[in-house]
Order: sequence, then C-alpha cells, then structure tokens
Amino acid sequence: MGVLSVLNFTGEYHLMIGSYSINYLTNKIKILSKEKVSKFILVPTIDQELDQIETLLRDYSDLIDIELIKLDDFEKITEYLFKLGRDEVNNVIDRVWVNLPSKITGNSTIEYNQIKQNIFQQCQKNRIPISSLHDSANSRFHLIPTIKNEKTGIELGISTNKNGCIIGTRLLKEIEVKFWKHNHIDKFLENIVSLRNSLKQLKSQNDNINDDLWYQIGLIAQDEEGWDSSKFNEFVKEEFIKNNVQKFETASRWLAQMIQYYPLRTLNTISLKDLLQNDSNDMTESLVSNTEEKEASFAKEASLNSLLQNISEKLSADKQTIINNESTTTTTTKKQSTVKLVGSGPGSLSMLTLQAIDAIHSADLILADKLIPEEVLSIIPESKQLYIAKKFPGNADSAQQQLLNKCQEGLDKGLNIVRLKQGDPYVFGRGGEEFLQLNEYIATNNLDAKVEIIPGLTSALVGPLVADIPMTMRNVSNEILIMTGTGTGGNLPVYPEYKKERTSIFLMGLHRVEMLVDNLVNDKKWDDETAVCIVERAACEDQRVTRTKLKNLVEVVKIIGSRPPGVIVMGPAVNALVPDNGELYTIKEGL
Ligand code: SAH
Repeated sequence: MGVLSVLNFTGEYHLMIGSYSINYLTNKIKILSKEKVSKFILVPTIDQELDQIETLLRDYSDLIDIELIKLDDFEKITEYLFKLGRDEVNNVIDRVWVNLPSKITGNSTIEYNQIKQNIFQQCQKNRIPISSLHDSANSRFHLIPTIKNEKTGIELGISTNKNGCIIGTRLLKEIEVKFWKHNHIDKFLENIVSLRNSLKQLKSQNDNINDDLWYQIGLIAQDEEGWDSSKFNEFVKEEFIKNNVQKFETASRWLAQMIQYYPLRTLNTISLKDLLQNDSNDMTESLVSNTEEKEASFAKEASLNSLLQNISEKLSADKQTIINNESTTTTTTKKQSTVKLVGSGPGSLSMLTLQAIDAIHSADLILADKLIPEEVLSIIPESKQLYIAKKFPGNADSAQQQLLNKCQEGLDKGLNIVRLKQGDPYVFGRGGEEFLQLNEYIATNNLDAKVEIIPGLTSALVGPLVADIPMTMRNVSNEILIMTGTGTGGNLPVYPEYKKERTSIFLMGLHRVEMLVDNLVNDKKWDDETAVCIVERAACEDQRVTRTKLKNLVEVVKIIGSRPPGVIVMGPAVNALVPDNGELYTIKEGL
C-alpha cells in the first residue's frame, strides 16, 4: 500500500541508472525537468543506446550529464550517489531512477537483478529515495498516471497501489473524456485561479484586510488536508457586507462559495466584474446559457435525462392538447405568463416530481437558489436562461432581492419563469413571501400573469429518513418539530422547552451550533445526552450522516467540518434503528 503525496523536486539532482526503456527515460526527463529538477546524471546501459537518446540529449543538454561506465562497476555508482549531488545536501544524490530490464522483460535477468538489488540496498541504507522500473521490490516510490493543467498546476492522479492491473490509466482516460474535457475543467481551473489572483492583488492593495478571512473561506494558498472547513459557512452580518472593504470581502466570499457549490459549467465564465458587483444587475450575462460559450453540450447524462425528457415531452404534449382544445372555444390569442415556485427536493434527481420536471422544460427563464445541486441543474436544457442566486450565509436578503428583481423583469417581458427552490417552497424557502410579492407586482403593473406553487420533498423530512431516523415511532417519538437554527437577520429564534418523545429537526443550524447547543442546554434545559444526528447533503451522492450526543455536538462539528447543506435531528428516534455505540461520534458516508 502507499500514500499519495506531492513531492517538490525543485533544484534536485537525480541519478538515472540505465536507459533500457527509452520511453521511460524520455518521459521522466520531460516531466521532471518541468518540475525544476536541476540536473540529471545519466548512466546509460550500453553505448549504442546513446544514438537512440540523441534528441533527448540535445534538447536537455544543459540538464543532463552523461557518465559512461559499466553498470556493474558498483564502486563507481556508489561514488556517484555520494559525490555528484548538490552542495546543500552534502553532495548526496536526491533521487535515483533505475531503468533496467525487469525479471519479466529482460534477457540476462540474473545480472541485472543483482545490480538493481545492490543499488537499492545502498540507497535504502542511506535513505535516498529510489524508483526502479517495473520492480516494486527495489523501489520506495513510483510516479502515477495523472492529468494536469499546466497553467495552474492542478493535477489529478490515480494509484491502484499495484492491485488494479493498470486500471488506473483506464480510469484516468474515462475521467479525462467524460469529466475533465466534458466539463471544460481546464477552462474552469484557469478562470478560477486567475480570479483568485486578481482578488489577491486587490487584497494586497488594502492593508486593512488580513489573511484570516481568506484562510477561513479557503482562498489562501494552503493544503486542503489541513483546512478547517467548520467556519466556511459562518454567518456574516448584513452591516458587514456594506462598506468598501467589505465589498472585496463579499467578492471573496462569493468566489469561495461558487467554487464549493456552483455547477462547474457556470464557473468557466464568472468574471471579476461579476464578483465585485453587488447589485442586482449583474451576473445574468455570465451565468445564463450562452450559446457561444457552450458549443459543447454539458451534462446530458444520457439515459436518465432522456427518460426525463420523454416524461416531460409527454406532459407538455398532454398540456398542449388541453390548450389546443381550449383555444377552439376561446378567442384569446395572448398567452398568460406564469411564475412557478417549484420545489426541487433535497437534491437528487430521483426526488424531483414530474410536475417540477415539466415546469423546468416549459419555462423560458429559470431562477435557481444557490444550493440547487448540479444533478438537478443538469436537466435544465441548454436553451433555457439560467440564473443562480449569489448567496452566502448572511446576504440572504440581498440574494432574495436579486432573484425577485430578475423575476419581475421576466414578468415584464411576458416570460414563463421557474423559481427553482430547494426542498419545498413553503418550508423555510421564503415561498410565502415571494407569492405575496409577485402577486402584488402583477396586480400593481396590471400584468397578465399568475403565480403557481409546485411542491417538493422537503429536506426536513427526507433528511431524517435517509439517515434511518423514523421521525415518529410508538414509545419513541410522537411529535415532529421543524425549526430553523438561524432566525431573521441572524438572530436566534425562540427555541422550545425540552420534551423527550419528540423529534426536533433544525434547518440552517450547522453554522451556529455553539449558540444552538448553549441555548437548548442552558436556557431550555434540554437533556445533553439527547441523541443528535447531522444529515448533510441528504439524498445526494456525497451524503454524510454523523451521529453524536447534544453535549458533544459542538466538538464534533469542529472535528468533521461542514458539508452543506445539512439538517440537525435531535431526539430518541435518532437511535431507534441505529443504536448508540458509545463513541464520541459515528459517520456514515454516501447514500
Ligand atoms: N425549502 C428547503 C429548505 C430551505 S432552507 C426544504 O424544504 O428543504 C435551507 C436549509 O435546508 C439548509 O440550511 C439545510 O438545513 C436544509 N437542506 C436543504 N437541502 C438539504 C439537503 N439535501 N440535505 C440536508 N439539509 C438540507
């Protein structure tokens, strides 16, 4: 077994022993010289091979020193190991690559095996990393197949830890074609990295801005391994977002949120202007479907999508028949436009209703909440205009206002609009408010339009279900409470008194668990042994279910970080089907 890691080769001197596989040698020198290895000391296998590597020697003449010796001149090789390295490391060679025939491929294998073993032992004794072609017994590391974006350095690699029968290369090819190229990953990486660099430049011009925020939201150069994501979605007060410095902060937060949650297809086209504009007349141009930008078709996940398309076409056809029948009896020509507040369920395609699919397919403009997952967005046809709310915890009001403005603009143009909302529109979705506002707008402006509501499966009920929590069960729980963890304007709502036989479900609470727990335990006297379950990205592929107790909730959230969106479920039902095992917490990954 092995551990994937990233090695820094800058300035190193590498000893390349043997030139048995010219391919291997050429590739290594190409890759390693890009990684800024300063010198290669090459000991070719036999003289004749020199003409085969002539081009290599010519192209990299500054970097390659040739040493013509016999490979069984072991004394000489040992001398090279300790004499030809760079000064900073006492002239010890940094890394050794052995390129000799293996047991399987070579002819005079006995002799080579002996040479390889000797070199390996010498390296191992002196802790010099060594990699031997097709010979894991005589290697301490090896390179793996990767896909790399040269401009940004972002790289994806696969290791099968020698158990995969070269499946790594195959997998990588699939990923390259079906994911990397399909989603224009190169373009997206370059855009995001350049946006980050532009923001960094702005940041350096303003002394008031420290690194803490950038660290918190993950924009600072750092290893993802050690990043504490628990503060990523921390609530930001509205006043904070307003003045000039905060405009930069807001842009940074948006970028971070977009990187984490937006569909990849929208990340190719975001511009610095989009990030810095806080008003409502912004992102449309960059986020709406743009035919030039999208010459390649994104996310048409063949079978399921075409099935959905069929259903939708059928529904539309049925509707058309009704409309046609109606039009024979009426004389009206102008079509009434509609705004549909559509619940899109918790995030899985399988939990979209047929009515929701139909609405999406018959809309002109789709205005989506930030957290609508890519899987759901992927069924929106390319021809539809799509706008996604620019939202992070704390700017909900302005994000809501932007969507409302867009909706009103659409109504003015007589468009059919879908307001795609997560879960159910009327469960913490501001659906009620929107219903009133839109109807008022329609009435005031005397528009021929109507507002419709299409229900969706709410995360408040799906979350517990997918986490094996029966919300009601005889002798366990006879009541369900659905609450928000965040009140209006970031203030705490009034929490209820403790009641044992109840399942309490908190939405929008994960970024404020400290306050939530403090309030429940200290003010409302909840039993701190109450079982708690965090259900994140419920019903999505990367669903995560974490069980703990109320008294440990804050600590556990710090340890596991956050993977929004998530609901917190509390009460004995949490352990009704999955008994408590006494651990600080347990995690179940995936659906
Ligand atoms: N109308 C939505 C709720 C919107 S409020 C509904 O009915 O589900 C947003 C909150 O919903 C998030 O903070 C989170 O608590 C919850 N949520 C939405 N989708 C979720 C999901 N897939 N998994 C877990 N929680 C989710």
